[in-house]
Amino acid sequence: MNPFNYLRATDAGSAVNLFSANASAKFLAGGTNLIDLMREGVEQPCALVDILRTPLGEVQELPEGGLRIGALVRNSHLAAHPLVRKRYRLLSDAILNGASAQLRNMATTGGNLMQRTRCYYFYDTASRCNKRSPASGCDAIGGFNRIHAILGASPQCIAVHPSDMCVALAALDATVNITGRSGDRTVPISEFHRLPGDTPHLDTNLAPGELITSVDLPASSADLRSAYRKVRDRASYAFALVSVAAVLKIENGTIRDVRVALGGVAHKPWRAAAAEQILRGSAPSEENFVRAAEAELAPAIPRRDNAFKIDLAKRTIAAVLAELAGEAQ
Ligand code: SF4
Repeated sequence: MNPFNYLRATDAGSAVNLFSANASAKFLAGGTNLIDLMREGVEQPCALVDILRTPLGEVQELPEGGLRIGALVRNSHLAAHPLVRKRYRLLSDAILNGASAQLRNMATTGGNLMQRTRCYYFYDTASRCNKRSPASGCDAIGGFNRIHAILGASPQCIAVHPSDMCVALAALDATVNITGRSGDRTVPISEFHRLPGDTPHLDTNLAPGELITSVDLPASSADLRSAYRKVRDRASYAFALVSVAAVLKIENGTIRDVRVALGGVAHKPWRAAAAEQILRGSAPSEENFVRAAEAELAPAIPRRDNAFKIDLAKRTIAAVLAELAGEAQ
């Protein structure tokens, strides 16, 4: 591990100031991904700005009925929070499907948004990887790519985003609150993470030195059904091959609201806009669910080892929606 300075912030403002005084610094919270990356030599920050003592660890109700989740709220605390379990069940389920209990006790909401891909070649510093080392190449494209992307990839990178929580946040239309030297701003979760394009080394649209302070969930009505389903190689402590987060509202036999997001298929949580367009205003039938899933996966591009993900994603979308429709009737 390279030598680095350790700095401790007391609030969001001091965190931003400490960061800006240290080129190539990183914010440190739970450290469940960053410390591994530093040990492997993938991340080599000159300084760590510890934000764990900043007051960003609360869950608060918003006046219009939503919820504000502080960036330092631990994943285990968020999954067990009574308001999350009652109003945003898919978020609780998604978090509990991620990592292990010990990691969830350490990992934070902001850190979950910032975790990096689990592409094997990204972690192996002997491999070529455009994300770790821009313009070096991508050994996954011609290599073993069973876990890699089928949607939104580029000739530079076919990695997938690893988070379960963020897939649920995408289906919930969450927004991310950010602070930095230029002031505060709010970004929809759909615009927070990036597709790889020609800049796969950039995972998010955060500017250097910007800090996530909280995540807002919009108000949720009691008649909105939601679910998160994760398909993986073993029952626990494995990343998603495919996951589906969905919310569904049916009135008088018609789908009034539907939001679907996919994990394990793209460089960011993938909002299933094509499927949603077909389903909104339609009857909640198995035929329509299958048709919507087919449309969403139509642009999918398989690699040598991951073609199975296309059918897996279609079937999981249709199954989750059918389950929710059954509950709603
Ligand atoms: Fe690196 Fe992306 Fe290629 Fe993986 S898929 S080796 S992260 S460039």
